[in-house]
Amino acid sequence: MRQFVCPACGAVNRAPDAKDPLSAKCGRCGEPLFNGHPAAVDAKSLAVHRASTKGAAVLVDVWAAWCGPCRAMAPNFAAAAQMLEPDVRLLKLDSEADPQASAELRISGIPALLLFRDGQEIARTAGLMSTQQIVAWTRQALTQAHARASQGS
Ligand code: ZN
Repeated sequence: MRQFVCPACGAVNRAPDAKDPLSAKCGRCGEPLFNGHPAAVDAKSLAVHRASTKGAAVLVDVWAAWCGPCRAMAPNFAAAAQMLEPDVRLLKLDSEADPQASAELRISGIPALLLFRDGQEIARTAGLMSTQQIVAWTRQALTQAHARASQGS
């Protein structure tokens, strides 16, 4: 059983393994659980995604409208969503709209990518990346985290 947070209404949805999450709809609002686009979050909804996403990772793009490299990376991050969903939920956090959230995440430079699994941060990076770089970095970080977990360390 996997578990996803609806990007539209924030409801926690359980998804049977036999069912493709990409075609699942939210039990509360009826919106698709995945729509091929990163979902905008604030500190509160990011916390819900981190805590309640099970059987998938959460990748957060911390950005700001004044940041040129952030704007340049936005279409790359959106394209990466289509390649990484539903194994990874892609989210966007506006550091200017929510400075408290980026302070809590100890963000020092943007654009920053933070990868969470089971609520824990497993990797982060910063700087402008291409779609291929985002996808490759995410998959490599997940593979390394999986290897660490199976070694029991
Ligand atoms: Zn919903």
